[in-house]
Amino acid sequence: MDPEIYYAEVIEKTATYVNPGLAKLLAFAGFGVEMKAEGCYIWDQEGKKYLDCLGGYGTFALGHRHPKVVEAVKRQLDIMPLSAKAFFNAKQADLAEMLAKRAPKGLQYTFFSNSGTEAVEAALKFAKATTGKAKIVSTQGAYHGKTIGALATTGKTKYQKNFEPLMPGVEFIDYGNLDQARTAIDNQTAAMIIETIQGEGGIVVPPAGYIAGLREICTRNGALLIADEVQTGMGRSGTLFGCEAEGITPDILTLAKALGGGVMPIGATMGTPEVWDKVFGENPLLHTSTFGGNELACAAGIATIQTIEEDGLLERCRKMGEKLIAGLKQVQIEHSDLVKEVRGRGLMIGVELTMDEVGELSVAQMLKRGMCVAYTLNNPRVIRFEPPFIISESEVDFAVETFRSAIAETSELLASLV
Ligand code: PMP
Repeated sequence: MDPEIYYAEVIEKTATYVNPGLAKLLAFAGFGVEMKAEGCYIWDQEGKKYLDCLGGYGTFALGHRHPKVVEAVKRQLDIMPLSAKAFFNAKQADLAEMLAKRAPKGLQYTFFSNSGTEAVEAALKFAKATTGKAKIVSTQGAYHGKTIGALATTGKTKYQKNFEPLMPGVEFIDYGNLDQARTAIDNQTAAMIIETIQGEGGIVVPPAGYIAGLREICTRNGALLIADEVQTGMGRSGTLFGCEAEGITPDILTLAKALGGGVMPIGATMGTPEVWDKVFGENPLLHTSTFGGNELACAAGIATIQTIEEDGLLERCRKMGEKLIAGLKQVQIEHSDLVKEVRGRGLMIGVELTMDEVGELSVAQMLKRGMCVAYTLNNPRVIRFEPPFIISESEVDFAVETFRSAIAETSELLASLV
């Protein structure tokens, strides 16, 4: 079929049957139809390829369709894809063991679900059950998901206001501010929930010692620390878990996105024996999920961890991250009127622009030049670069060059408007 006709049909169907506003938004920004993907690239209906520097908000750590993950999932598909939910599930047990052996010491157990928000939902429930308290402290700009409990802790009122009342008892403090944490976390607090780097809030790296400081304040007040590593986890910030940067063990840790290797959806909530005893001690079915822990997703998770380790992808993530940050910082020097700051760790990188319009225009410019990026959900002034860890040096060069020319053209465009 003619690609133009096909494109018009997909837009029309999306607008009629999925979401009219979303169809308008994507078409306006210039996004085509995703036809196939491999490694660091996505192809649209015209056969044009895009370097994926968005990486599905951090999902494609191994790129698209990594052969080792695809192979493991295909093998499992022919044996048993979904759990019957009554027998023992060996794949679930294997993945849980692998996670426990790699996570900060003490996080022995894992509950599996299917998405990030479900992982957070479980974490909030587990904190309440463990402490018998209801107050949750979260941070402004935080993104923890959009189901009703997780949404209550997502620090952006625009996503919350149509759904009130949300889960009560949530208090927000500024991210990175330990003084506010000292005041907010008290003996009525069940948990503090924190991203080790704020993702959707605009790739905000906290001051050194912040996460360790929260750990200490929580312990002192008998509150739990929940590290939401849905985006930072599985190596995105250069270590398998973001909290490794400060050497602490949270009581509960959430994972999703990259854990499925870019092939399967999966969520995970890890916890200490103290937490599991309180939650599941009397009733092992207190929190359950029909699809959580299914064999297909767990096979993908196992292959993901093996691939990260066998292929040295954490080291590669750190190395490529440094190169990308250095390149983007050079562009910042050249265009300091439009680019305010480049920040991040590993391959979780944000570029803060001086105006919202620059974000929108330059994303479209980069797309036109064959690179897919987007701004962070809670902060449209920050463009995120979260490419696969398998990105090559020349692809990093391409990403920097594309950003450079997109910013230059945006600058000319803005100049012509005044
Ligand atoms: N927590 C964090 C830190 C996230 O970045 C996200 C998604 N951007 C979520 C939770 C929610 O994950 P999901 O979209 O899979 O529900």
